[in-house]
Amino acid sequence: MNAHDGMYIGGEWRPAAGADTIAVVNPSDEQVIALVPAGTIEDVDAAVRAARAAFPAWAATPPAERAARLAALRDVLVARKDEIAGTVTAELGSPLKFSQAVHVGAPIAVAGSYADLAASYAFEEKIGNSTVYLEPVGVVGAITPWNYPLHQIVAKVAPALAAGCTVVLKPAEDTPLTAQLFAEAVHEAGVPAGVFNLVTGLGPVAGQALAEHEGVDLVSFTGSTAVGRQIGATAGAAVKRVALELGGKSANVILPSADLAKAVNVGVANVMSNSGQTCSAWTRMLVHDSQYDEAVALAADAAGKYGERIGPVVNAKQRERVVGYIEKGVGEGARLVAGGPEAPREQGYFVSPTVFADVEPDMAIAQEEIFGPVLSIIRYADEADALRIANGTVYGLAGAVWAGDEAEAVAFARRLDTGQVDINGGRFNPLAPFGGYKQSGVGRELGPHGLSEYLQTKSLQF
Ligand code: NAP
Ligand code: MG
Repeated sequence: MNAHDGMYIGGEWRPAAGADTIAVVNPSDEQVIALVPAGTIEDVDAAVRAARAAFPAWAATPPAERAARLAALRDVLVARKDEIAGTVTAELGSPLKFSQAVHVGAPIAVAGSYADLAASYAFEEKIGNSTVYLEPVGVVGAITPWNYPLHQIVAKVAPALAAGCTVVLKPAEDTPLTAQLFAEAVHEAGVPAGVFNLVTGLGPVAGQALAEHEGVDLVSFTGSTAVGRQIGATAGAAVKRVALELGGKSANVILPSADLAKAVNVGVANVMSNSGQTCSAWTRMLVHDSQYDEAVALAADAAGKYGERIGPVVNAKQRERVVGYIEKGVGEGARLVAGGPEAPREQGYFVSPTVFADVEPDMAIAQEEIFGPVLSIIRYADEADALRIANGTVYGLAGAVWAGDEAEAVAFARRLDTGQVDINGGRFNPLAPFGGYKQSGVGRELGPHGLSEYLQTKSLQF
């Protein structure tokens, strides 16, 4: 695949400061498909300086013009959607149809939503004898993971640019090619030099340098809880703003009045899509005693039919981690009803779509984020029991509730300690705030709530 051998800084591709590279591997066949530069502290420093230099002019650019650049960015993503989808498939491994519909479709919608929001948002408001200005926070350090490589970039960069912030992005080492295409798209969209900058590299080197840089005013991170905790601590010590989108262990609560087959089938598809590498996936399915055996049979059947529709996980380390959890589940006494730890293919980082029944709420497979195609089905006795189990993890990112009657589902959803709940299979809404309760994170992304993360208020009294 084509790859840039430099960093996108100050509106141009510049040679990297060091000579080290990162090999990009196709997880479907384990072949190296490209090399990208491994950024150093010097590259990060150059990028932050470029972002700092570009900030005053971009912050002063009328919102209508910022909106026009975002609309142009959306249009470039649309024009290049096949190339981007092919690149996501090559470096992440997701089936091409899923890359087209979700990995490229969602960010196009989000970029479009911020073009609209930048044009319509009230960056000024009156409160009594005050005029309150909503001003950009400054230079944003964005650190993104590989599981939705373009979506997670757009979910940070589009609102930051809409707000008038400038950005330095450090994408995941596994998916830097999608990030390079995004940088090309920003350039083609006519975004001024220095407003967006890209440094590819390793987390503990380039990522850490970005999070610690004193020229960064806000760090926006999506990824593991372990790294998020560290970034939060660093930001706290420096008194700078931070947004953390971390893990999840969300519950799919099927109440007895629900359409069981639909709830189970949608639930299995939710967990298996993107090979289970979705922070908001409903990895715990909660089923009433009276329907438990039927639900288990339906889920095993649905998971068993996946075949070629499931891609590999992103790399060898993730496969080991996921297989390790499957072995742990067996060891803890959960009952395998689909899949298992054996590799389904000789080549590629594939894991069989796996379903566990007889999972107890306190087992590791019911408490920890596995990040692979593994579903745990848990039995509950009554609603109070279901609520206690659903809320019984350190996480609170997403969830689902199914019931015959919408009001019944809503009443249950209101008692869940979580940031998003889909009612009877509700659709993804790119304008709804996305983010976690409890240890799933700090801050919100998407829509107007996501935009406000990049703004700070200044009040003038008259
Ligand atoms: P990760 O290490 O937290 O990666 C997220 C991003 O942070 C990547 O760009 C990473 O760079 C960077 N990073 C790593 N260490 C850093 C540091 N010390 N300072 C600054 N940035 C740093 O996550 P992962 O290793 O890719 O995945 C591990 C687990 O995290 C998964 O199994 C899953 O449970 C969870 N995860 C959650 C999400 C989510 O959406 N909430 C997404 C991905 C993973 P590198 O790419 O070089 O590591
Ligand atoms: Mg990592």
